[in-house]
This record gives sequence, C-alpha cells and structure tokens, in this order.
Amino acid sequence: MKEEKLITVTSPLLPDLDDFHEMLQQIWNSRWITNNGSFHKQLEKELAAYLKVPFVSLFTNGTLPLITALQALHITGEVITTPYSFVATTHALWWNGIKPVFVDVDLSTGNIDPDKIESAITPRTTAIMPVHVYGKPCNTKRIKEIADKYGLKVIYDAAHAFGVEVNGESILNAGDMSTLSFHATKVYNTIEGGAMVMHDEETKRRIDYLKNFGFNGETEVIAPGINSKMDEMRAAYGLLNLKQVDAAIEARHQVAIRYRDVLRNVKGISFFDDMPGVKHNYSYFPIFIDAENYGMTRNELYEKMRASNILGRRYFYPLISEFSTYKGLESSRKDNLPNAHKMADSVICLPMHHMLGEEDVERIIKLIIN
Ligand SMILES: *Cc1c(COP(=O)(O)O)cnc(C)c1O
Repeated sequence: MKEEKLITVTSPLLPDLDDFHEMLQQIWNSRWITNNGSFHKQLEKELAAYLKVPFVSLFTNGTLPLITALQALHITGEVITTPYSFVATTHALWWNGIKPVFVDVDLSTGNIDPDKIESAITPRTTAIMPVHVYGKPCNTKRIKEIADKYGLKVIYDAAHAFGVEVNGESILNAGDMSTLSFHATKVYNTIEGGAMVMHDEETKRRIDYLKNFGFNGETEVIAPGINSKMDEMRAAYGLLNLKQVDAAIEARHQVAIRYRDVLRNVKGISFFDDMPGVKHNYSYFPIFIDAENYGMTRNELYEKMRASNILGRRYFYPLISEFSTYKGLESSRKDNLPNAHKMADSVICLPMHHMLGEEDVERIIKLIIN
C-alpha cells in the first residue's frame, strides 16, 4: 500500500524568504541585532494596533511574560488556575514559589468555571490565572466581579487568543495583564516569541525594565529583572507574518466550517461552535469522543489516525494536575476536577492550519466517519 502524505496537526506560518532576506539585510546594515531595535519597536506598535490594545511588550517566548507578570504584580501565596491547559501556565506559578489551586472547567467552553472559583479562595489567595483555552474567551465579566470582591489580581494566559475579540473589543484587554505566545505552533508566530499586554504606559515601562535585568539606563538597576528580550531577526519575521495572519486565520476558518458541516452528523462526536459576538482565531479544532456512541475510544481513533499518517494531538491530556510535580496538591484530586478529566480523556485536536488542502480535509473526515 502506498504511504499517504503526512498531515501534521499544525504547520507554521512562514514569511516569504526574499522579503525576510531584505529585512535581514537592513539589520546587517544597522548592526543593531537586539535590545529594543527598530524592528522591535515597530512590531510592538503594529501589534498593539492590530490587536486593539493600548500597550504591548515583546518577549522571547510565551512563558516568560507569565512569570514576569506574576513578579511585576508581586503575586505570592496561592493562585487559582485551570488544570486544562499547557503545562507552562502552572509552571509560571511554581517558578515564583506560588501554590497553584486548580478549579474545574466549564464543559461548554473548556475554560475555568467562574461558579467554582469562590469556594477555592482562601486567605492566602492573591490572584486568578485563567486561560482562554483554544482561544475561546473566558467569562471575563464574572471573573472580574469575583476578583474585585476579594481584591484579587487577574492574569490571563492568552497564549491561544491572538486576535480574539468579543463584541469588537479585544479579549486581551481583560484582567490586569494578558500574555501571548508566538511559538511556531501558534496562529501567529515569531518562531519562538511572546508578548505581554497591559493597560498603561507606566506598567509597560516597568515590564520593559524587568525583561532586561531591571536596567534603567546604563548604570542603574531598579529591580531584579530577567532577560527575556526578543531580538531584531524575530521582530522582522514577526512584522512579515503580521501581514499574512488574517489570510491564515481565514483559511483555518474554512477548514473549521467543513469539519463542522460533516462532523455535526456523526454520532458520538462533539465540538465547539462559534460563540455569538466573538471573532475567533480558529487556533485549534478539538473534538470530543463519546466512545459508547462513536463505537471507538479516543485513543483508538488517535491511533487509527496515526496509522493513516494523520497526526492529531491530545491537547490537553494528561491534565496539568496529573503531572508528578502537581499531583500531590489537594486541588489535584480527581473528584475536584470531573469536567477537566472528562475533556482530557475524550479530546483529540484535529489538524488545523492554513496549509491544509481540501483533499487533506476530506481524507481526515473520511477516516473519522468510517
Ligand atoms: C504555548 C503556550 C504557552 C507557552 O508559550 P511558549 O511560547 O511556548 O513559551 C503558555 N500557555 C499556553 C496555554 C500555551 O498554549
């Protein structure tokens, strides 16, 4: 039997190589390769405009802005978060000596369930760190009400939520700060990269110090900062990708439409529909397998796809609360997180990216419905 073409779960958005070369030439001419160079400044401005947010600070990846946000806000003690995410969300707490407190998710979105937050608050709670999982907006209004009532900070891990808007407003404006990842696997990438979004210029200045060792000018260090700066090469790459990200998102949208059209009629498979008033980015296409009705378990389907050279990913399985570092926490108990376990045990993210051709999508669909 002929080996079928490999279909990966994602494929990076790459700039035109000639265009990139031209920008590299400019960097070579200037001999300014990092430390807030001109492409870095330009990308911060263009991203703020594109994302409809007041201020953006670029980072070298999407994990360091999480760690830095917690530092900047002096978060200590306990932070309420979700187990249904990429492990970096909780690691950022651990790296700050903060105890994560997991709260279960809402099955209709996969996001932290606001109704379960209050009962997890203790005198040591200082913040809430939700995730807009798969780019689906959290209930930011309810979370803000709870945070205000108890005097808690809110830091959104918005790694999946590039460009997502609710009623014309960026979801990145919610909370005290939001962080983004521009990793190669995300909707918008700078190879490795990330950003923090903040509301005011003073916070932006403070974050810019913190990501550069705390340096203010040549001789003064105002805080124990870290080094998490983005360089000029990746900023240039990011400027080029920003011009084509809308087209890439639209290509993903078309794939989502086709998946939904067909899978809506398949027994034992469920997925998320678009939410009213939300501009989605189609960053992932998770489906959830009900083995009894579908006639096959999640893992069986996952293996069947692999055997046909179609690579799905079990995002997010296992839950963060199941990893050895976090497993012993009181809030990691399985009976505290029934919905998160249900999702983790049934999910497969189907291939979703701008390079998927119609034939690819039909091949994936055919395999799932058979
Ligand atoms: C990708 C991701 C991160 C980490 O971003 P990196 O750029 O890989 O450091 C953090 N949180 C979530 C939810 C992610 O998906």
